[in-house]
Amino acid sequence: MAFRTSALALPQQVGFAFCMTGQALKLPRTKRLVVRNSMTSATSLHDNLIVAQARPASVIRKIREDLENRERSAVDIMEDYLTRLRDRETHVQSFLHVSETAMEEAKLLDDKLAQKARIGPLAGVPIAVKDNLCTKDMPSTGGSKILEGYRPPYDATAVRKLRETGAVIIGKTNMDEFGMGSTTEGSAYKVTANPWDTTRVPGGSSGGSAAAVAAKQCAGALGSDTGGSIRQPASFCGVVGLKPTYGRVSRSGLMAYASSLDVVGCFGSSVEDVAILFQSVAGHDSADSTSSSKDVPSFAETFTPVDKLNSKPLVGVKFGLIKETLGEGVDSSVVSAVQSAAKHLENLGAEVIEVELPKFSLGLPAYYVLAASEASSNLSRYDGARYGRREDAQELVTMYGKSRDMGLGSEVKRRILMGTYALSAGYYDAYYKRAQQVRRLIQTDLEDVLQRVDILLSPVAPTPAYKIGEKADDPLAMYAGDLMTVNVNLAGLPALVVPCGVAEGGQFGLPVGLQMVGKSFDEATLLHSGHIFEQTAPSWHRTVPPLVQ
Ligand code: GLN
Repeated sequence: MAFRTSALALPQQVGFAFCMTGQALKLPRTKRLVVRNSMTSATSLHDNLIVAQARPASVIRKIREDLENRERSAVDIMEDYLTRLRDRETHVQSFLHVSETAMEEAKLLDDKLAQKARIGPLAGVPIAVKDNLCTKDMPSTGGSKILEGYRPPYDATAVRKLRETGAVIIGKTNMDEFGMGSTTEGSAYKVTANPWDTTRVPGGSSGGSAAAVAAKQCAGALGSDTGGSIRQPASFCGVVGLKPTYGRVSRSGLMAYASSLDVVGCFGSSVEDVAILFQSVAGHDSADSTSSSKDVPSFAETFTPVDKLNSKPLVGVKFGLIKETLGEGVDSSVVSAVQSAAKHLENLGAEVIEVELPKFSLGLPAYYVLAASEASSNLSRYDGARYGRREDAQELVTMYGKSRDMGLGSEVKRRILMGTYALSAGYYDAYYKRAQQVRRLIQTDLEDVLQRVDILLSPVAPTPAYKIGEKADDPLAMYAGDLMTVNVNLAGLPALVVPCGVAEGGQFGLPVGLQMVGKSFDEATLLHSGHIFEQTAPSWHRTVPPLVQ
């Protein structure tokens, strides 16, 4: 294989995955769809949809109220969720493991309630957890065969914090192996289906968590985001997803993919749910030296109920719509949904300007060099000796080799090869070092533009959810889908995804998400604005997938 290094322009140089095939970094041209999801033209499509509720409401708050008012017991609530989980699991396949102790935990909570004991803010709330977060009472495989049956001796800090606030971990969700992928097709165990159209992918790598929330198999979920793995599945499944600032949530107990990019974040069916979950997992942790000791504000407390909002609740907030994310290669349905959302923000009193980020497209190749490089080092711990699966062999090195060969999937092997190559002595400067320089450029550009605006707006992905199998054999097409999310990780910024429209596709339409990118550690402004947007947006997104009916 010939590697072309010298004559290529910067993006190709840093993105040797792309260089290897000589493919350009542009997104493929997509078929222009008939636009039917703008605010004015959505009615025809919306006629097909079932409007489930007046507006997204907090499922977690409802559980709390029901428990406090003795309307339902914790056992009733858990039984409801477990029944729904099992019924829908045949169609969706979001879980790799379901808790065997959830009912017992609910019973214990009912006993506490009977004794009028104090209960935590998430008491009795069934939360699903991505399988790359360690749980001591359930297997944690990271979607990989190499960790089949592995039971960690401890809970990840985020999981521990959830349990401390009373949440019940209802199960572990499916994911692309070690977070590498965008569809869950990279899982060694199963492919999760999108609840809106089960012939389509739910997104990834946290596809199981997003699908489980969309299918109401849990009240909320944890995921991880290295290059878009919370935001893209949230968009594909029509749920809310938050990728926090790097360092805001402890990574202790999260299986490392690319440590300088990985963050733990949350999914919910409303911004309020996401804020409540985020509140309980955020904060400093001495077990993670990169976790920040910055104060964690009270996020949901700043939310105003929709009936108390004035007509221009976003006066004083300035948004920047990223021009480079609305051009060629992006589905017109997606562009139109995001532009309509920007218009809606303007109607709410916000100022919306267009901003240019000329270096935007350099982020994707830089990300793939850096993420693969870090992965090649991080994944060396899976050697057959320390955790999970071991193949027998006479020689130690043969045992390592066979265990890794049998235990790791093809995408993971590809990334290890790419990363090892980029870090090798002769190519380090051309790839890894150059990618780090590009990362700095991206960071500076984003920080500069965020001096001028409070929040950046863009689509999450160039298309809505695509068919299972459509990109499974075309890794570069799959990587290209990450163009709009990876820069946020390179810069370590927080981003919130809220549903903003329904595009044509499937029997009931397909959700489209709006990505809102905030200033470092300013999740509060994101959640506040996202909440107002969600509570006031026109009815076309106040829907739930047909499976949920
Ligand atoms: N799809 C991207 C990748 O494969 C992002 C994954 C992630 O955020 N974990 O690397």
